[in-house]
Amino acid sequence: AAKGGGRGQFRFYSSELHESAEKRRRLEEDLRDALTNDQIRLKYQPIVSAKNDTVIGVEALMRWVHPEFGDVSPAVFIPIAEESNLIIALGEWALRQACTEAMTWPGNIRVAVNVSPAQFAHPNFITSVTQAISHSGIAPERLEIELTESIFVNDDETTDGNFAALKRLGVRLALDDFGTGYSSLGYLKKAPFDKIKIDKGFIRDVTVPGSRNPAIITAIVSLAKALDMVTTAEGIEARDELALMRELGVDQIQGYIYSAARPVEEVSEVLASGAWVIEPQGPDKQRAE
Ligand code: C2E
Ligand code: MG
Ligand code: MG
Ligand code: MG
Repeated sequence: AAKGGGRGQFRFYSSELHESAEKRRRLEEDLRDALTNDQIRLKYQPIVSAKNDTVIGVEALMRWVHPEFGDVSPAVFIPIAEESNLIIALGEWALRQACTEAMTWPGNIRVAVNVSPAQFAHPNFITSVTQAISHSGIAPERLEIELTESIFVNDDETTDGNFAALKRLGVRLALDDFGTGYSSLGYLKKAPFDKIKIDKGFIRDVTVPGSRNPAIITAIVSLAKALDMVTTAEGIEARDELALMRELGVDQIQGYIYSAARPVEEVSEVLASGAWVIEPQGPDKQRAE
């Protein structure tokens, strides 16, 4: 860091800021051509039954391999895509790609695809879901659309119409990152979600003595059960976290303890060999610290 404060410090931060604004501009420019330049991929992370370690579905997670910067995290490029409207093309691509790739998998493995608020609000959204299904030939109930609460910011007829249309199509709906936004129960009342994904934020420290997170998770699980929805806990990394999720009645587990997101070739290969059972592998968080 800059020494001596004053001007030097100001210049230090100022140039760093400039650099990040510059880099952001570069990323936005390059993201425009990332699809046609074949730099975008989907990786798939297993979603596992809490009862028997069996994979019941996967979540498609977008990856950008930039020729100069290497792997750019979706936490970086998805917000850029959202602000620049590129998310529409990227999101439509992800829907088509995920359905097409999932078609080759045996059994009734589900594929979950993230949909941004801007994509959800776009007039072409329902058409793009319909086409992803019809062009791939996937059974609609194998496709799960993951939405966050931010889709309700512009709560209007479009939102209601979209939910009705998605239900008619027969796709499944998951409420992603639950607990990070306003978590208004009104959304759960009116929107026909099949699943609540409990945000990673409630998992961190969940096994620390005195943590309030187990009580919150218990409440989410009981709410979900009462509304006939299943729960998935995201971000499970440690054995004691997994044990606690099972104890609290969470239905499904997603996290590094089972697997990070993997390339389609790997996922297809494992799935082709039959049922996919994964041994959980990880530390005990309480002992590790
Ligand atoms: P998300 O939808 O909540 O996805 C879960 C994120 O948690 C993924 O990050 C995943 O790799 C990460 N994760 C899974 N297990 C663990 C764990 O045990 N520990 C930790 N620390 N992290 C874990 P990823 O792939 O970096 O994606 C970040 C976010 O970017 C996603 O959060 C989603 O909001 C967005 N995103 C990714 N792909 C797409 C896409 O195709 N379309 C849209 N609209 N958004 C996407
Ligand atoms: Mg998600
Ligand atoms: Mg999430
Ligand atoms: Mg998210």
